Amino acid sequence: MLPFMTMLQIPWHDGLQYKVDALGFRHMNNFLSLARDRDTGSVYPEADGSPTVAYTPSTFDRASIQAGVVAIAKICYIQGATELIPPVRSIPSFKSDTPASERNIDDSGFSIWITQLEQADFTKALLVSGHQMGSCRMSKTKEQGVVDQHGKVWETENLYIADASVFPSASGVNPMITIMAISDRIARGIAAGLK
Ligand SMILES: Cc1cc2nc3c(=O)[nH]c(=O)nc-3n(C[C@H](O)[C@H](O)[C@H](O)COP(=O)(O)OP(=O)(O)OC[C@H]3O[C@@H](n4cnc5c(N)ncnc54)[C@H](O)[C@@H]3O)c2cc1C
Repeated sequence: MLPFMTMLQIPWHDGLQYKVDALGFRHMNNFLSLARDRDTGSVYPEADGSPTVAYTPSTFDRASIQAGVVAIAKICYIQGATELIPPVRSIPSFKSDTPASERNIDDSGFSIWITQLEQADFTKALLVSGHQMGSCRMSKTKEQGVVDQHGKVWETENLYIADASVFPSASGVNPMITIMAISDRIARGIAAGLK
């Protein structure tokens, strides 16, 4: 995992603690609970026309993220992680020296910590946003989206969009291959049209 992503996730209590934790970077990994969000945010123009993104995860989507974090913690514990640092500061990290071969998912100390994590207030969790998609949806009719199935903007001639924004909805998985495929298709369509 990239240093900037991991360092961001180490909770700050004080300078010394942060430096000590950061020194452990070479022994750490950082896992993301990536949610396919059900609910949406919005993009709206400022007075000067520049776009502003407004997005607050809904209670439903936050619960999906939290369930993912709990699942990741269980996987890491069973695989032998000696310390688990959660993305909420109200929950202390969980430490264990028990060898992986002797661990069970229902070990009492771990179970208590997992219950804390399940009940934690995730409105205070450190969340990041990635893989934005679908802000200029491809649609069958102009009422339902921004571009047609060839990537052409419905109500404007000679304007095409060929990126993640034309996804009809969030893919829920890493998007790059799909973006490349859609862009390739739209580009070929434009080239054919130019002939
Ligand atoms: C750290 C990180 C890790 C990722 N890891 C993965 C991964 O493992 N797998 C995966 O599938 N996806 C991953 N992604 C997501 C993936 O990289 C993006 O979803 C994808 O690159 C988006 O493609 P795009 O063409 O829609 O937009 P972009 O790749 O962002 O392209 C937009 C382009 O438009 C240009 N631009 C912006 N404004 C203007 C303007 N006014 N005029 C002209 N040009 C402009 C920008 O310079 C840029 O080149 C990752 C993203 C990040 C940030």
